[in-house]
Amino acid sequence: MTPSPAQALDTLVVGAGPAGIGCALALDAVDGLTVGVVDRGQIGETFRRWPQEQRFLTPSFTGNGYGSTDLNSVHPETSPAFSLGVDYPDGRGYAKYLRGVARVFEVPVAPECEVTSLRQDDGGFVATTPHGPIPARTVVWAGGEFQDPAVPQMAGKGALVHTSRHEAWGPRQGRLVVLGGYESGLDVACHHVEAGAEVTVLDADHPWDAGEGSDPSFRLAPRTRMRLARAQQTGRLRLLARHASSVARDGDRWSVSLSDGTVLEADSAPLAGTGFGPGLGPAAHLFDRREDGWPLVDADDQSTRAPGLFLAGAALRHGSQRFCFVYKFRQRFAHVARVVGESFGKDCTALEAWRQAGMLAEDVESCGAECAC
Ligand SMILES: Cc1cc2nc3c(=O)[nH]c(=O)nc-3n(C[C@H](O)[C@H](O)[C@H](O)COP(=O)(O)OP(=O)(O)OC[C@H]3O[C@@H](n4cnc5c(N)ncnc54)[C@H](O)[C@@H]3O)c2cc1C
Repeated sequence: MTPSPAQALDTLVVGAGPAGIGCALALDAVDGLTVGVVDRGQIGETFRRWPQEQRFLTPSFTGNGYGSTDLNSVHPETSPAFSLGVDYPDGRGYAKYLRGVARVFEVPVAPECEVTSLRQDDGGFVATTPHGPIPARTVVWAGGEFQDPAVPQMAGKGALVHTSRHEAWGPRQGRLVVLGGYESGLDVACHHVEAGAEVTVLDADHPWDAGEGSDPSFRLAPRTRMRLARAQQTGRLRLLARHASSVARDGDRWSVSLSDGTVLEADSAPLAGTGFGPGLGPAAHLFDRREDGWPLVDADDQSTRAPGLFLAGAALRHGSQRFCFVYKFRQRFAHVARVVGESFGKDCTALEAWRQAGMLAEDVESCGAECAC
């Protein structure tokens, strides 16, 4: 894509991660739409930045021909398992998959093109970038959540190291405290137990217990449960259903105080596996918020404050439904593309391929996962 097109694009996609590349591919399938993608870094920039120890939790497998499209793919005819030859991709591998998809399908991506502001203008939008303004009639915000690490509000929080930082994965000896007992907290805890550390995980909600329902957004992934069982067998992992209220450092010792007055000592900086915020960056002012703070969108994933601005990716919420995995948020790529295409009077027939591949859920209320056994 030419970074600063003379004519307004029909759709500008901000972000070249799985949500942005996936949406652009569906939009591109709509006959006659002009689409461009920008990224502040390279294609798959977030995955390029993942600590090398982190891998996908969702397995890849090339079941595409039988209607079981690889859980981590962003287009019906692709599979990370096929292109990478692994079942749980790491960050660099997945970035390579995204680059390959963008190359094969000729997705128009402008790298090193950060959107620093986004405003409504004359019925559309104008994105400000270092290469000049980009006018667009509609925008898909696919900036991802990795840029918005969530750290708990408590005294001494500056001493915490978030799991998105490479420093959290470096060698640790002795006693270590991890705040947060869901996927990222247990991921880093198991990693350090495997390397010999004695780890205490704190989470008042104790998500390591079975939890309710079958939805992986609320229940640990099988891979994590298997690692957890192995880590517990070492005797070096302690899971405490308690709330941390403050952190303090004294030289090369750290202490974490719990709300009941107990104090845990640690030999290195405590880690925060406490997740991410929505990461809306310069688009934040164009979204209303739900009561829980997540962006408010209408039934078509459009901002209620700025219609024509769509949200794609893990920050998407509809009612109690969370779309925090690729196999979930990809269900909306073709829906958004159809809403955009039809608003411009375009033929959207090609998007049926997404439905046939099990990659299109128009009724998000039907997305719940409950298993009988
Ligand atoms: C540690 C971790 C593990 C995860 N594991 C899994 C898993 O196993 N399975 C799964 O399905 N999901 C997993 N997820 C959730 C989710 O799939 C990923 O977070 C995924 O990266 C989200 O895709 P995205 O395209 O929305 O965001 P990203 O991949 O973060 O892409 C966003 C892109 O937008 C760019 N960008 C941001 N702001 C701007 C701007 N202002 N201008 C231009 N470009 C911008 C960034 O450079 C980036 O390339 C995991 C998430 C994390 C953090």
